[in-house]
Amino acid sequence: MDALIPTPSAEPLLVSVAIPRPLDGLFSYLLPSEWAEKAHVGGWVKVPFGRKEMHGFVMEKPKALSELPAGLERSALKAVREVGAGGAVVPEDVLQLCRWASDYYRAPIGEILNAAVPSAALGLKNKKEARTLAGPEPVATPPPRLTGIQEAALQEMERQRNLQAPGAARVCLLHGVTGSGKTELYLELARRTLAEGKSVLLLVPEIALTPQLHQRFEAGLGVRVGLWHSALADGVRRDQFAALRSGQLRVVVGARSAVFAPLKDLGLIVIDEEHDSTYKQEDRVRYHARDLAVVRSKLTGAFVVLGSATPSLESRERVREGRYGLAELKERIAAGGLPRVELVDLKEEPLVEGTQAALAQVTLDAIRDTVAQGGQAMVFLNRRGFASFLICKDCGEVAGCPDCSISLTFHKRRAQLKCHVCGHFEGIPDQCPKCQGLDLLPIGAGTESLEDDLPRLLEGLRTLRLDRDVVTSASRLDSILSDFRAGKADVLLGTQMLVKGHDFPGVTLVVVVLADGLFRWPDFRAPERALQVLTQVAGRAGRGEHPGRVLIQTFLPEHPVLQVVQGNTSEEEFLGQERELRELLGYPPFGRLARLRFEDSASDTARAHAEKVLREVRRFSETNGGSLEVLGPSEAFLEKAKGIFRWDALLRSRDIRILQRSLSIAKEVAAVGKFSLQIDVDPHSVG
Ligand code: ADP
Ligand code: ZN
Repeated sequence: MDALIPTPSAEPLLVSVAIPRPLDGLFSYLLPSEWAEKAHVGGWVKVPFGRKEMHGFVMEKPKALSELPAGLERSALKAVREVGAGGAVVPEDVLQLCRWASDYYRAPIGEILNAAVPSAALGLKNKKEARTLAGPEPVATPPPRLTGIQEAALQEMERQRNLQAPGAARVCLLHGVTGSGKTELYLELARRTLAEGKSVLLLVPEIALTPQLHQRFEAGLGVRVGLWHSALADGVRRDQFAALRSGQLRVVVGARSAVFAPLKDLGLIVIDEEHDSTYKQEDRVRYHARDLAVVRSKLTGAFVVLGSATPSLESRERVREGRYGLAELKERIAAGGLPRVELVDLKEEPLVEGTQAALAQVTLDAIRDTVAQGGQAMVFLNRRGFASFLICKDCGEVAGCPDCSISLTFHKRRAQLKCHVCGHFEGIPDQCPKCQGLDLLPIGAGTESLEDDLPRLLEGLRTLRLDRDVVTSASRLDSILSDFRAGKADVLLGTQMLVKGHDFPGVTLVVVVLADGLFRWPDFRAPERALQVLTQVAGRAGRGEHPGRVLIQTFLPEHPVLQVVQGNTSEEEFLGQERELRELLGYPPFGRLARLRFEDSASDTARAHAEKVLREVRRFSETNGGSLEVLGPSEAFLEKAKGIFRWDALLRSRDIRILQRSLSIAKEVAAVGKFSLQIDVDPHSVG
């Protein structure tokens, strides 16, 4: 369509730009004709927007002014101020991926692009030099000889990798128990992909896991590996962006936003722990990195490996439907095999005195014995801080956050009560604010209190703690993990952060202080997630030469999930029941969900907005023979956060197009009424 560009002519062109603002659609600007050659699709421009100047991306080839869309006056158009250097900085496949995500998640394209290509990556923010690619090249260490089981799984994946399926996604679920050698297979596939001149993207669920895998990949592949996550310094991000874009850097390890990394000739995408909920970005721009990886496979032909010991019901269903391939690793590499799992019934077992945590004597004994035998233990607790809350013994009042509907967490060392939602903190009161009672009692235990208690209960015990209060930087995290690996502590105490993927061969005991919280989440995925978390936690034990032991403390030993963990019920049977229930109720993977969230500083207003939108959506549903279910509105599980009230509604349909049309209607109503509406397509939880 080059003929459309009238060069050389004084007549400016028309260019459509995506702006990083929560507004739908593209914005039209005038492009001075002398810049016509410089403005590439996927390139950035600086434009006036409102009273500000912003950067945006050119989304379409500039057009002649005569093609001005109806309703737009030339005099209303402003001109592009600057055309960024570097041409099409966003590669074509990433641009298409963003378009797809914008459409599917009903999110403004400019915001998606901003998440995909942060301004720092363009060098717009910080012009300082960074030398990420300097230093000696990593040296490859020879890979281990694969076991027969690994070899068989590799061959199956290789067969799938070589299937021709133009325009379709090529995805293989690698279902392998914890410690079965999945990572070695990722490495082997990566070597082959690099040998073919293509690049490799590895996604991990948590920034905390990137250093470990980064190191393993550099050593395993003998090439420099990029790191990609939201906490990168600006200069580093910019240099990596350029190195990936040019093909100089061909492997990258990153968290969910790396699904947008501008790798050249992408050949392989690995999603480690594919079931993990952190792949779903839940604030601002909502997207699921695993699902986008599958879309990117369609766009680029890259082969996708979804690795997990506990695959999501969604991915299992795709395998069942024949849309994804399957490769399995049913045994551990380590001689000791999978760890032994024991339940500790807190109703029956004698408890240890002198700690707020419900800690059974047998559990404490197990820690002591493990350490005495030269082993290490990991103790998993779902709660940061010292205790979960401060309760008044006289009236039962619990200290709550003034801005959120949640109780404050007691942090003893900082002498603070802290809100884990908004960060509000206050001093520890002497008196109950309600009844002036003086007997305020911290209830429950957090990581901080156990860190205090354990060395008192077991003299000489050396502990390390891993949670968001301690891990304030990537280097801090690195040092805690490497200290533990080096045996500088006997026990690593931690929250969720500790669960995933870590490979500590010295760990022979894993303790779950209280499993019960996992079952209480008001969500249809709660049982599945509880099983995943417990399996993952258990999977940290016995990865070296010594067999592992797992103690799960609970007040609910008969819970179905614990029956599976213990091996009394098979996983297949349990998941089969979950699957049936989901099918019956039209939950994913059988139906699609979208959550609408209405926020306002007044609860009634938020509710009224919700009702206004739902009226229209219900009307639409009726004209569609009820193929769309509309649930709500109801107060959100966390009904107030940061001083803002939240009302939710849930839309459910087996037809994605119906669901998306209903979302368009909802957006329209909110736009007309000028109120806030947040849409979450495929919400991870509906609680
Ligand atoms: P997963 O990713 O399934 O948790 P890993 O790939 O981390 O498993 O393997 C678990 C442990 O076994 C690691 O310490 C790894 O180095 C080791 N390992 C994996 N495959 C082999 C092999 N073929 N021979 C020897 N050791 C192996
Ligand atoms: Zn708060």
